[in-house]
This record gives sequence, C-alpha cells and structure tokens, in this order.
Amino acid sequence: MSVTRTGPGTSRTRPEHRTALVEELMERFPGVPREAVLKEDLLRGGVAFDDSALSDNENGEVKPKSYFIFSFDHGTLPELGEAALRRPPEEIVLTGGPYDLRRTVVSVRVNPGSPYRVAASDDGMLGLYLDGRRIADVGVPPMPDYYRHTLANGKSVMEVAPTIQWGYLIYLTVFRVCQYFGAKEECQYCDINHNWRQHKAAGRPYTGVKPVEEVLEALEIIDRYDTAKASTAYTLTGGAITSHIGGKDEAEFYGQYAQAIEERFPGRWIGKVVAQALPKADVQRFKDHGVQIYHPNFEVWDRRLFELYCPGKERYVGRDEWHRRILDSAEVFGPRNVIPNFVAGVEMAEPFGFTTVDEAIDSTTEGLRFFMSRGITPRFTTWCPEPTTPLGKANPQGAPLEYHIRLLQAYRATMDEYGLSSPPGYGLPGAGRAVFSVSSFMDSLPGADEAAPAAHDEAPAGG
Ligand code: SF4
Repeated sequence: MSVTRTGPGTSRTRPEHRTALVEELMERFPGVPREAVLKEDLLRGGVAFDDSALSDNENGEVKPKSYFIFSFDHGTLPELGEAALRRPPEEIVLTGGPYDLRRTVVSVRVNPGSPYRVAASDDGMLGLYLDGRRIADVGVPPMPDYYRHTLANGKSVMEVAPTIQWGYLIYLTVFRVCQYFGAKEECQYCDINHNWRQHKAAGRPYTGVKPVEEVLEALEIIDRYDTAKASTAYTLTGGAITSHIGGKDEAEFYGQYAQAIEERFPGRWIGKVVAQALPKADVQRFKDHGVQIYHPNFEVWDRRLFELYCPGKERYVGRDEWHRRILDSAEVFGPRNVIPNFVAGVEMAEPFGFTTVDEAIDSTTEGLRFFMSRGITPRFTTWCPEPTTPLGKANPQGAPLEYHIRLLQAYRATMDEYGLSSPPGYGLPGAGRAVFSVSSFMDSLPGADEAAPAAHDEAPAGG
C-alpha cells in the first residue's frame, strides 16, 4: 500500500481508491442522494481528525463528542491519540465541494486510518478531505448554552443529558452498561460495556446508573437555556435489564424516568423509550407514563444471524417472541409510533454473514416488508465496527458501501409500496434538511417539497 500526502489528509489506501468507489456508486444509484452516499461511507468507516479540527472539550466553543451510549469509534481511546484528549465534535455538517452537497449532518466516528480527514486549511476553515482532495466544507456544532452550566453536584449536562442530531434529541442513557454480559450474552456488535470500562479507565465521569433527580435537573437546565427550543425529543435508553436495578425490572426502571419527566415537563418533548421487546402490559405502562414512541429494536432480521449475534436476546426472549411483542406493542402505541431499529451492515459481517450484497438486501427487505406491511416503520443505524466487539474485530472495514446504498433504495421502495412516510419524531426528511446523524435514512427520503403531508409530522400520529 502506498501513502500519499496531497493536502492536509493522509491516506493509507491507494490514491483515489475510495474516491473511485464513492463516485461509481453515486453514478450507479442516481436515486440515492450523493449526500447519503458520503454519509454512509463516513458512518461505516469513520473519519480521521487533524489536531487543528479537535475541540477544547467542555471549555471551548465547539460541542464535543459525548460518547452517549456506544463508543462509535474505530479504535479504543488510547489508540485515538490527541482525539482522546481533545475530543472531536459530536457531529459535523457537510456542505458544498465538488459534489455540491446540501447540508448533511454526520455523527462523528473516529478512525485515525480513514481516507477521510477533517482538517483546517491555512485560513482556519475546516474541510473534509477524501484521498487528500477537499470534498466539502465542514461546520461543527456550537457549544450549546446549556452545556456551560453544571448540576448542583458539579456533573455536566453533557454527561447526564447530552444532545445529538444537531440539538434535536436529548439522549438519556440512564443505564450505561448492559446485563447481557460476556461472549455468550452480549450482542456481538455492541461495545456498551467496553465503552463504560474505557471511560472509567480514562478517569472520565461516566455514571453507570443516572439518578432520576439528576436527569430532571439536567433537563431543567436544557429547558431554561434552550430558548430556541431546538431540543424536540428525548430518548430513554441503556442496556438490557435481565434481573433488577434497585428492585426494579426493566419496565419499572425505565418507566420511572418517563413518569418523572412527563410529570415535571408535561408534553415539553416527544418522549421515546428504547427497551427490549417487553410483554404488552409493560409496554402499556410506558404509554401510561406519557411515552409517545417505543423502540423495541430487532437488530438483524435473518433468523440464524439473530441467534448468533444476539445470544442474550435469543436466550431470554427468542426471536419469534421478540417479533410477536413488537406487533403487540403496535396495539398499544399505534403502528406509527413503534419504530424498531436494526443495525444496518451486520448482515454482511464475516464469518457468518451473507457473502453477497444481493442476499443481504433480500433478507433485510423481507424484514422491512414484515413490519411495514403492518404499518410499523423500522429505522436503522449504520453499523460501526468497534474493534472491541467480536464482529468489529473480524470486520474492521464494516459492510460494503454498496450494501448501505442499496438498503437506502430498498427502504424507500418498501415504504412507498406500503404507503408509509418517514417515522414521527425524527425531524424533517430529505437531503439538506435531515438531522438524524447515525444513518442517512432520513436524508434519502423525499423532502418537504416532494413528500405527502404526513411525512412532515413532528408529533406522533395515532396511538
Ligand atoms: S441488549 Fe445488546 S445491543 Fe443492547 S446494550 Fe445489551 S448488548 Fe448492547
């Protein structure tokens, strides 16, 4: 492999290799926005940061990466160099360049070996470089006012209630580990437990279980200083609870936060809960507390891969029961407000995954049809192959970019087939408007001037 330096970026791959792949896919799939092609490539493979593009953590003008649940990095903290000391921004926004990009918000996944690099030029302007060529202007999120205040006990708002998606979503990981533990239980693509360990080892504040009162206090601060009301939704989430925390089972544990938030701030934000696929009576409790959207994530559709990749979920609940409970929860929340996630790309992870893009797309589409034919709109996050996970270790390159591009195509086609529009609680769809940063499914859906009116809904419909 040759190493080139033709600008601020350093490529470890052959010159123009990745550029050729990206441009070939843009040409082959003209129905997928160019912005989405680049965003998927950045999400699956990560981006390197020049020291000139790093933040000054919580003391600077740029909102730093909060590590809100998983590491979403291609190296452990000690492997990230300066980026472990001066955090990169939470997200970047791309515009312009030779592809004339519309505004595209991308979650930051650090990979020092990526052919993509963010760096400042001599005039101090940040740019995104691919194979050494400048391909976009880069904007970074300003430090929000609410991050400049601390809780009474000194904890930062970023630690207790970080915001992502350009400030749209408050991400409340109230339980920062998972009770599925070890190789026989942890999902094979998930580094939640490792991420908790590495932050503790680095001496960073990283609360395992967030007290309800701390969450409320952080939300008070956000509510007070987010005068533009950019924050629109919150997500309550964390690891699976197979026994109890403080005497509470999973539904009681996560439900207590929803209840407290909705009592203190009724209707201020769209409340969402990510939890396991729970029995209907538990799901009803979430609804009764004021939660509006439920995410019982199905992770991967194929039966064999689910059993291999999600051994804890298979053992405690089982795939068929998981899917039955998703359908049951649609009777509680209404199908529009049940939005199960899957991890796009793990279908093609070696050694067990599909070996062709065709097979992987066929399988994923079967899952999309299963849910969408019942009015349930899944969504997906783009797999980041974190190196401390079994699948990430075996597949440092992630899934082929073509899989991700064809998935966007299949997703939109299946939505059209069943007359569905973008799910509620994700902001506006369309390239140039979307803020959902961990996949480009919202960027690749019809925009405001192309979509049916229902696609613009901010609040959940039905239920
Ligand atoms: S249930 Fe699986 S994906 Fe969720 S936190 Fe636990 S190990 Fe990770």
